[in-house]
Amino acid sequence: MASRVALVTGGTGGIGTAICKRLADSGHKVATNYRSEEKAKAWQAQMKADGYDFTLVKGDVTSPDEAEAMVREVEKALGPVDILVNNAGITRDGTFHKMSSSQWGDVINTNLNSVFNVTRPVIEGMRERKWGRIIQISSINGLKGQYGQANYAAAKAGMHGFTISLARENAKLGITVNTVSPGYVATDMVMAVPEEVRAKIAADIPTGRLGKPEEIAYAVAFLVDDQAAWITGSNLDINGGHHMGW
Ligand code: NDP
Repeated sequence: MASRVALVTGGTGGIGTAICKRLADSGHKVATNYRSEEKAKAWQAQMKADGYDFTLVKGDVTSPDEAEAMVREVEKALGPVDILVNNAGITRDGTFHKMSSSQWGDVINTNLNSVFNVTRPVIEGMRERKWGRIIQISSINGLKGQYGQANYAAAKAGMHGFTISLARENAKLGITVNTVSPGYVATDMVMAVPEEVRAKIAADIPTGRLGKPEEIAYAVAFLVDDQAAWITGSNLDINGGHHMGW
C-alpha cells in the first residue's frame, strides 16, 4: 500500500495510540492532536521510546476554528490528509432524568460535532484528489444503548447516520466512509468504571474479556487499506461477540 497522510483525533488516548502505531506500522505518516502541552510532551517521549515519530498539532475538536487550524497545520507538515480517523471522545455518564445540559452538550460536542468540525476541512481535498478514507470510532452503545449513557449513545448513533450519508455522497470519488464500533476496551475510559461493574461486563462478553486497543486498531488498518476500496457505508462491530443476541 502507498504511504499516506493520516490524521487520528484523540491519538494520545488508549485506542488512539494503538491506531497511530498501527497506521505508522503500515507505512503511513501519522499526525494527532493534543490539548495539554504537558500530556503531549510525555506522550511523544513515550512514543519516541517505542520507536515512533508522530506529528502533534494543538487543537480541541469541539471548536470548528481549532479543528480547521489543526488540519491546515497537518497539511503544512506532512501534506494533504488522505486518512481521517475521528476517534476523540469522552463520556459524562448519568441517568437522563438527572442529566445536566452540560453533560449532554459536552458529549455531543466532543463525540459528534467534532466529526463535522474535522471532516469538513478535509473532505474537499479528498474529493479533488479522488482518494480518501474516513473512519468514525463509534461504540457498541451507539447501537444498543446503555443505561446512564443517553448522551453518549445519541452521539455514537449519530455517527452512523453521518457515515452512511457521507459514504453515499462520495462513493464515486474513491472515498470510503465507515464506522468501527468497539465494545468494552481496556483503556482509561473503561478502567474508570468500578471494578465490579467491569467484571460483570467481561462476564457478559462471549470471549470473557475486555478488548485490547490493538484489536480496534487492526480494524482501522483493514479499512484504510487500498484493497478495502469496496467497503463503504459499513460498520464493523469489534466486541468479542458482545453484539450477538441483543
Ligand atoms: P481515552 O479517554 O483513552 O482517549 C480519548 C482521547 O480523546 C484522548 O486523546 C483525549 O485527549 C481526546 N479528546 C477528548 N476530548 C477532546 C477534545 N475536545 N479535543 C481533542 N481531543 C479530545 O479514550 P479511548 O481511547 O478509550 O476512546 C477512544 C474512542 O473510542 C472514543 O471515541 C470512545 O468513545 C470510543 N470507544 C471506546 C471504548 C472503550 O471501551 N474504551 C468503547 C467504545 C468506543 P485529552 O488527553 O486531551 O483528553
